[in-house]
Amino acid sequence: MQFKDIVGQEAVKQRLVNTVNENRVSHAQLFLGPEGSGSLALAVAYAQFLSCENKQPDDSCGECSSCRKYQKLMHPDLHFSYPFFAKHKDDTALTFIEQWREAFTTNPYLSLDAWRGYLEAENKQANINIAECHQIIKKLSFKPFESVYKILILWLPEYLDKEGNALLKIIEEPQPNTLFILVAQNQDQILNTILSRTQLIKIPCLTYEEIKQHLLTGHNQTEDAAAEIAYLSNGNLTEALTMLQQDNKGYHNLFVQWLRLCFGNKGLEVLTFVDQFAKMGRENQKNFLRYGISFIRECCLLMAGAGNLVHLPAKELETAQKMTQVLSIDKAQYISDELEKAHYHVERNANPKILFLDVSLQIIKILNLKTIPQGSQYIPN
Ligand SMILES: [Zn+2]
Repeated sequence: MQFKDIVGQEAVKQRLVNTVNENRVSHAQLFLGPEGSGSLALAVAYAQFLSCENKQPDDSCGECSSCRKYQKLMHPDLHFSYPFFAKHKDDTALTFIEQWREAFTTNPYLSLDAWRGYLEAENKQANINIAECHQIIKKLSFKPFESVYKILILWLPEYLDKEGNALLKIIEEPQPNTLFILVAQNQDQILNTILSRTQLIKIPCLTYEEIKQHLLTGHNQTEDAAAEIAYLSNGNLTEALTMLQQDNKGYHNLFVQWLRLCFGNKGLEVLTFVDQFAKMGRENQKNFLRYGISFIRECCLLMAGAGNLVHLPAKELETAQKMTQVLSIDKAQYISDELEKAHYHVERNANPKILFLDVSLQIIKILNLKTIPQGSQYIPN
């Protein structure tokens, strides 16, 4: 992975290159950026740059023996750790290294959900277990074999249990020329003890323009399609790439039908829908909810008289205009909050049947209220 292959993030790249050129590489760093910002790709490109035998002014060469091994993630001084689902108690990240190489080389903007797919552990909780912590300590106790640096990239330290404290000593006093790069999304879910021992590198989400350009030049999208996906992805390239592959029309019809049933308070039919949602699988459920959130946002724009900002295809726009006749901005906001909450819970393995039933009931309640009292907390949870 070279810096030049990563979308945007010019300031971060420059900062990372400078640490090497100015010889002030910190031995424990935390790359903190939201999903789809490219933080994992940046960590790998940084590690490759550090180890390159023929460094260019602002990137690795991509051709030396080290770079060639790095491109395949097969350098003996490059190690990875990541959440996984242990089938046996002795399983460590190494057990899944083949899947990891495939996942990252296929898409360096990997999401945890996509990674779960590789592990065939869709609905199971992945984590970084104590066996893996011990493995990390063991791996890092050796001197580098070929490079100046031995580098461990730990993806999603949020999934380290308390056992992560086993790593403190090695983070604080590593072997010479050993680097720890943690790549995280949520600062407040990381063990404080680890946080306080690392240097923080903040990675912002991408801009609308950066994503749009990438879709135009890297994925042959039309101007309209690129603009629409860039807009809906909200600075998350992982999300934009997923959207490229999916057919939003299916979600659109399903979502609108669901709202109609809720509006008509058709209990039995809603239950049939809930069953259908439950069978969709988590990835699909999340995409569906995201679609719903974006669609409601577009409805709000229409109601607020900002139709010129709406990026929906003609048919969906027509439905959105009809929707605005039964919605108010308040109601739309409540529905959107419910969908956001549901998305959060799907990610955390909530029972899909109970979850979608609950959301449906909330939406029935909201849609059938005459008005929502201003500033009230009427809608529970
Ligand atoms: Zn090189």
